[in-house]
Amino acid sequence: MSKLPRNVAFCPCQSGRSYAACCRPFHLGEAVPQTVEALMRSRYSAFALHLTDYIWSTWHPDYRPTLHDLRADHGVQWRRLEVLGADEGPSHGVVEFRAYWRTSTDRGVVHERSSFVKEGGLWYYTVGMELA
Ligand SMILES: [Zn+2]
Repeated sequence: MSKLPRNVAFCPCQSGRSYAACCRPFHLGEAVPQTVEALMRSRYSAFALHLTDYIWSTWHPDYRPTLHDLRADHGVQWRRLEVLGADEGPSHGVVEFRAYWRTSTDRGVVHERSSFVKEGGLWYYTVGMELA
């Protein structure tokens, strides 16, 4: 977590709150997201800030890529997040969102419905279904 920035005024997940009052405690391991939306937002923020270890550790072990693959830098910058809906039960949840990305030569939007499971009191991302 040596790359964890201290000077991000607004959280990259676009909650409108400061990073320190939003996703940073999750990234530091000081708190655990209690809802699937909070976990999804913190994972998006981690993508935006290139906090690969956090992305990996919140990805269910049965579904996640290798840490090495995840660390590959694709030159993608995540610019904006819109959470369209979230629904959760005791052990399963889904979040639908649009995430806007940019590279030096291209830009686009990922529209996804992410699935989550709760195990041992912790939410984990499993898979995402890309939507039109
Ligand atoms: Zn946040």
